[in-house]
Amino acid sequence: MDAGTLKRERRFCPRCGPGVFLAEHADRYTCGRCRYTEFKKKTSQEEGQIAAAKPSRAKPVKKKEAKAA
Ligand SMILES: [Zn+2]
Repeated sequence: MDAGTLKRERRFCPRCGPGVFLAEHADRYTCGRCRYTEFKKKTSQEEGQIAAAKPSRAKPVKKKEAKAA
């Protein structure tokens, strides 16, 4: 695939078949012919940002106290 020239992929309607494009909206695709609606999924990039927001610092385990027992 040419990453440099990659544009938004046009999707076909699964009901009407290839040749009938889905109209792209902000959060979904719709078919103007049969009213088919397909919601967009969250991109992996968004999920990555959420994961990155979580603190990755792990609490140090106190092993000295365990030794005292
Ligand atoms: Zn359709």
